[in-house]
Amino acid sequence: MIEFQCSELSIEERQLQADVREFLAAELPRGSFMPGLGMNAAKDPVFSAKLGERGWLGMALPTEYGGHERSAVDRFIVTEELLRWGAPVGHHWVADRQSGPVIAKFATEAQKRRFLPGICRGELSFCIGMSEPASGSDLASVTTRAIHDGDSWVLDGRKIWTTGADRNDWIVVLCRTSLLDEVTDKRQGLSQLIVDLRSPGVTASPIPFIDGTADFCEVTFDGVVVPGELVLGEIGSGWTQNMSELAYERGGADRWLSTYLVAEELLRNHEHGEISDDLADLLGEAVANYWLLHQLSLSVARSIDRGGAPAVESALAKEMGTRFEQDVLNAVLAFVDQAPNTATDSLFERLLITATLTAPSFTIRGGTNEILRSVAAKGLRPSSGRR
Ligand SMILES: Cc1cc2nc3c(=O)[nH]c(=O)nc-3n(C[C@H](O)[C@H](O)[C@H](O)COP(=O)(O)OP(=O)(O)OC[C@H]3O[C@@H](n4cnc5c(N)ncnc54)[C@H](O)[C@@H]3O)c2cc1C
Repeated sequence: MIEFQCSELSIEERQLQADVREFLAAELPRGSFMPGLGMNAAKDPVFSAKLGERGWLGMALPTEYGGHERSAVDRFIVTEELLRWGAPVGHHWVADRQSGPVIAKFATEAQKRRFLPGICRGELSFCIGMSEPASGSDLASVTTRAIHDGDSWVLDGRKIWTTGADRNDWIVVLCRTSLLDEVTDKRQGLSQLIVDLRSPGVTASPIPFIDGTADFCEVTFDGVVVPGELVLGEIGSGWTQNMSELAYERGGADRWLSTYLVAEELLRNHEHGEISDDLADLLGEAVANYWLLHQLSLSVARSIDRGGAPAVESALAKEMGTRFEQDVLNAVLAFVDQAPNTATDSLFERLLITATLTAPSFTIRGGTNEILRSVAAKGLRPSSGRR
């Protein structure tokens, strides 16, 4: 059975939402910055540090490591407001969303003390080192290899589409620590290493994206020496750990708010005039869908707070959310009767251009929609233990 439950925010949760809105209005008044589209927003370590000071990073992490032991719902409320505002969340996004929780779950005491406080202060940035040129959906086929050498591991291989690798501090690398012919299942013999992106032998080459940015990279590891103390969790448990990491990647507001500002700006452009029936239909449908997706993500967060592991619900929320991000953009594109001008000063047109160029990636990054449907179908099989 799929467990999506509708719920309202409590008085305390609404207060948190109001606090974030007030902070954003004071810190980043509208018109004073170029808003970003979802998690693709700009990197601003100073802004990330301010969120850290407010206690809005590492919210669900243990207090002894700088976290705040708040609920997944509280984190959802904060991230939803940040993304709706187009705030520059790029610097801390991956560290706060998934590297921090994974380190809290699997790392040694020394690793927790080393990394978590910096993540909670918004200082440290992390990358996801999963995909390779020949391993995307079929992630268990990764060939990046780490060989044990004394107290260290020597890493060789290539990762691709690694967001932020040319600027971030650390990367969690999924790699093979046993050869394929030494295991009976390719999901065995995989491990995760925490690698300093400034280590000798690491090269991060930005890949130009169609919108003119170059946020993701090809990363090569050429005899990179990784100290044994930077093995994350157990050697050989990389697959299970990585799957739990993916659960943090899906189901949040970042999977349905990437084009929100385009729809909001369209409404702003019409707020003092007559709204046609076509526009009312477009915006009405969008609002209904935003509300539905807000409820799905809220339900996932409430389930996590009850101790659940809503992997199926997260996969479905991402599948529906990313499809909607594209659908609402297509509806806006069908509504506007001329192509946006690339030399424009209009915020709406600038957002529309960026959204149009980046939207195809929404249903690919973090796992394609075909794979998410497959995750949901497998999770709902009677043999999966769920009914
Ligand atoms: C903007 C962006 C940012 C990214 N950032 C990162 C990052 O930071 N770190 C990282 O590790 N990766 C990152 N990725 C990579 C992303 O996770 C992969 O692109 C994704 O998992 C798909 O893998 P692939 O590109 O190799 O496609 P493939 O796996 O080759 O898939 C190609 C097509 O085949 C379909 N397909 C494949 N297998 C099946 C199947 N079994 N059943 C049905 N259909 C199937 C897929 O759905 C897809 O349509 C990023 C990608 C994008 C677009």
